[in-house]
Amino acid sequence: MIKSENVHDVASLPQLEGFKMIEKIGEGTFSSVYLATRKLAPDGPEETLAVKYIIPTSHPHRIATELQCLQMAGDTDNVMGIRDCVRHEDRVTIIMDYFEHDNLSDVIQDLTLEEVRDYMKNLLIALRHIHELGIVHRDVKPSNFLYNRKLGRYALVDFGLAQGMDHTMLPLLKSKSSLFPMVKPRGHDKACASFSELPAKAAKRSHMLFDGKTKGLLKKCLASQGKGTRLASYPSRKSGQRPSARALQPPHAPSPICRCFLFDRVCRTCLARREQTAPRAGTSGFRPPEVLLKYPRQDSAVDIWAAGVIFLSLLSAHYPFFRAADDLMALAQVIVLRGSLEVVAAADYFGKALLCSMECPPVQFRMLCESLRAGRRQNLGSDSESGKPPSKRARMDNFPTQSEGWTTESAAGGWNSVPDSAYDLLGRLLELNPHLRISAEASLQHEFFSIPQAHVTLTVHIAETT
Ligand code: ADP
Ligand code: MG
Ligand code: ZN
Repeated sequence: MIKSENVHDVASLPQLEGFKMIEKIGEGTFSSVYLATRKLAPDGPEETLAVKYIIPTSHPHRIATELQCLQMAGDTDNVMGIRDCVRHEDRVTIIMDYFEHDNLSDVIQDLTLEEVRDYMKNLLIALRHIHELGIVHRDVKPSNFLYNRKLGRYALVDFGLAQGMDHTMLPLLKSKSSLFPMVKPRGHDKACASFSELPAKAAKRSHMLFDGKTKGLLKKCLASQGKGTRLASYPSRKSGQRPSARALQPPHAPSPICRCFLFDRVCRTCLARREQTAPRAGTSGFRPPEVLLKYPRQDSAVDIWAAGVIFLSLLSAHYPFFRAADDLMALAQVIVLRGSLEVVAAADYFGKALLCSMECPPVQFRMLCESLRAGRRQNLGSDSESGKPPSKRARMDNFPTQSEGWTTESAAGGWNSVPDSAYDLLGRLLELNPHLRISAEASLQHEFFSIPQAHVTLTVHIAETT
């Protein structure tokens, strides 16, 4: 079926017989996607397709997994299906229906609350479906969840990083399911406590890290180095086990105590430790705390956190929401959002001791989203007055505080009366403890998705009984 491989761009691709390549519509690390047309019969109608060329260096298992996910999970519940697959020597090409979609950053400022509700509902429907099949997508983000605003249609794509859970029904994912043992770590009965909901408990635990002695030492250490904010994480000896009191002693104690934090370099104790491994596949800004803290027992909750980050973007009209150069910076951003004591407690649960040089309380979601949204409008206004193009991004450290206020509710797109249930759901999606994070199934039952009273029609029918 494939004719040749030559020259540049569209023409340089392996040519598929009967296909007319139109243009490149997407490019990721592992593939290029093209819009193409094909006529099934010479006089028949033309169909529009998306042709995904996977780079030849992709691991065969990875390609096979992606194909199997599309085949087994696709064509239902907002998951993209597969039409064909062609292999020519080392090149695999996936052919899908073309799904016309919007770029989220182009529309995010105009979306109404109702559209956001619909978006999240459909994303969670897709996640519920794949999680039921035992698939963890691992790369949930707007560019992998195609959105056609006009038609209100959605499609989850890109299973290139997908992995299996214990109960996966996909044979190819089964071989990798050992990556996701669903057992809870031994000796962690505190798994039943939410870090975000039980600050008292978290505070008690993190006291180990912030007792007077340690605090004083850290203060001295920071002052001597002239630094404002630092973060350091170091592992306890066995992943999944709570760090021993000894491991949490201040760094002046005798070896084998870690001295990284004091000297700003990896100490000998840490160099001698076994390297910790945990799945890390995914995209910066969407990684949950269990991934950032290298907790090996990961599951579908990874996708739920990513859905929470998307929801945060939608509620605040800021995309991308997080930008971080590395995992430690990403963790610092999670700390700013969810609170230092809470993240320290989460790290403890994952068997990691996390030192945080200052305490910060969790951010209030409503305040954060409303001020960002208002700031976005202000920025847009001032930019257009100065003739400059609207600024595309705002940073976490640049939160505006003034709200402008919309004139009418209809002009506001529902943003003047965001229900508490929206922020409640957001908190459950962004729960630090993956074992307590809400599931896709449960989130679809959440009050945020129940039909607003104004839209319920009461139908009464009276029949004669005599
Ligand atoms: P990668 O693994 O390289 O990220 P994706 O499967 O995510 O590949 O595809 C990259 C981009 O191509 C997507 O973000 C989307 O814009 C576009 N794309 C992928 N599949 C389709 C499709 N079926 N219809 C339309 N566009 C698509
Ligand atoms: Mg992608
Ligand atoms: Zn160390």
